[in-house]
Order: sequence, then structure tokens, then C-alpha cells
Amino acid sequence: MYHKLKIWMNGELVDWNDAKIHVMSHVAHYGSSTFEGIRCYDTAKGSAILFLDEHVRRLWESSKIYRIEIPYSEAEIKDAIIATVKANEHKACYIRPLVYRGQGALGVNPHRASIEVAIATWEWGAYLGEDVLENGVDVKVSSWHRLAPNTLPSWAKAGGNYMNSQLIKMEAISDGYAEGLSLDQNGYVAEGSGENIFVVRHNILYTPFAGQSILPGFTRHAVMDIAKRLGYEVRETLIPRESLYIADEIFLTGTAAEITPVRSVDKYPIGQEKRGPVTEALQHEYLKVVRSGEDPYNWLTFI
Ligand code: PMP
Repeated sequence: MYHKLKIWMNGELVDWNDAKIHVMSHVAHYGSSTFEGIRCYDTAKGSAILFLDEHVRRLWESSKIYRIEIPYSEAEIKDAIIATVKANEHKACYIRPLVYRGQGALGVNPHRASIEVAIATWEWGAYLGEDVLENGVDVKVSSWHRLAPNTLPSWAKAGGNYMNSQLIKMEAISDGYAEGLSLDQNGYVAEGSGENIFVVRHNILYTPFAGQSILPGFTRHAVMDIAKRLGYEVRETLIPRESLYIADEIFLTGTAAEITPVRSVDKYPIGQEKRGPVTEALQHEYLKVVRSGEDPYNWLTFI
């Protein structure tokens, strides 16, 4: 069914099957791309894109870090995202804008390669599986660490960075877990392969700070706003691995994962081995916005 969808490529909507790149594109050899993962929700007030401005800004920031100059304006890409969602007649979907280095350079130096932009959309359910929002997922601490500073920049959402995420994810899946957690170069908890992490202990929320080799996600930020509004204290701090095992609750946050409870880490049961009350309160508030379309936080762009 994907073949019926359109993809926006360098200014025009083309058929899914025609949205191709050349094998000698720089990105195929060296991972030179930046991208975003965005959700459009079917709210009670109509379809709305969550954190559109923030995602497009981050696409520019990731690209700037990797010295990629996007040959469009942010406003043009926002319009193109909305046009693609409309052309594909989605009520709800996942949106993937991608900036990549194309042909023109065969060596590592990318400067002669063209810069291309594509936007794909498709319908997508729960990222870590159905019913996980209630029952939670089993995760393991990965033997792979998160990118160390001065290796690859973790604040950039860039293709090559996700080789690290793939190692973490593949190890977790092959060992029978839904997700892997990475530790930073000093052995403190960093994040999931595609999610940020929160630990709840004695009703206080703990999360790694943004400089700790994580991608500082918008869902993470939203959860911090909700938590403060609901009266919870949030501390951005170092999280030792062992604090996971004795946590009252743990949950993962991300555009795809939303707010997903963790029911075990390394086979240690967490809390009651299902969604705990703090996770539930935060999840309820988050899902209320994206389902009802009532938007006191100003997160949504209706299309
Ligand atoms: N960390 C990583 C490595 C990710 O890929 C993602 C998903 N973009 C996140 C965290 C969560 O970010 P966001 O809430 O903005 O989706």
C-alpha cells in the first residue's frame, strides 16, 4: 500500500516507487544525512502536527552541525510537510523529512555533493508494539555505549549517528528485549536507541541532562513541562545504572514511543511491572492533548 503514497522530493510530489537515489550518492557511503521523525495526530478537532516548528528547527540545527546547507527555507519545508500529509490524505501519520548529500563527491570530503531533500509520510501505530503504553516493555542495558563527546555530535539527528542506535537496538532484539538503553562514556545512563529516559523514585523524576550524549527530545521537554504543571519535581542529573534496578517507575519518551512504561531492566522487575501512577498521570495529560486537540501548551499545528 505504500506504493500509493506520494513523496515530496526536491520540490515536487512524486510516486513512492519513483522516489529513488543514485547508488553513488554520498549518503549511501558515508551516512551523510539529517532527518526528523514527526507525528501527525487525528485529534477530535482535526489533524494536527505535533511540534512542527521545533522539528523543522532541529532539522536545520542538525544540518548546521554537519555543515549541510539546506537549499530551502524553514517555511518552505513546513509548507511541504503539510502538503505531503494532505496529498496522502492521512488523518494521522508519521512524517520523515530527510536531508542528504547526493552525487558529486566520491571521497569523504562532501562539499561537492548536491544537497537533496525528501519528505515521506505513512501510517504508523505504536512504535514499541501494541498495548505497551499500558503494560510496558522489557529493556536491557546495552553493551554498546552512547556516542562519546568529540566523536559524533549527539545533538544532531543525523543518519550516521544511528549506526550506534542500530547496534543497541539489534543487540536488544536478538537478546529478546524490546529496547536497549545506552550508558554514556562514563557509565551513567544516557537514553534508549530512539527515546529519552525518565526514572521515578519517591515521586521525583530524574532524567539525564542534555549535555550527556543524548538527543534532547521534544517529548522529553513536553514531559518536563507536564510534570511541573502537575506539581512533580524534575531533576536533570547523572543517573547511575543501579538506580534503574530500584526505581519506582521508569518510562521512555519519543515522538514514536510517546510515553512508554518500562516493566523490567536486565530482568529486574520495575515497580509493579506495569505502568505506574506517575507515568500514567503524565501519559494521560500528553495523550489528552494529542487526542482531544485541546492544546493549552501550544504544541499543535492544525492542517
Ligand atoms: N533520542 C534518540 C536517539 C532519538 O532518536 C529520539 C527520537 N527522535 C529521541 C531521543 C526522542 O526525541 P523526540 O522526543 O524529539 O522524538
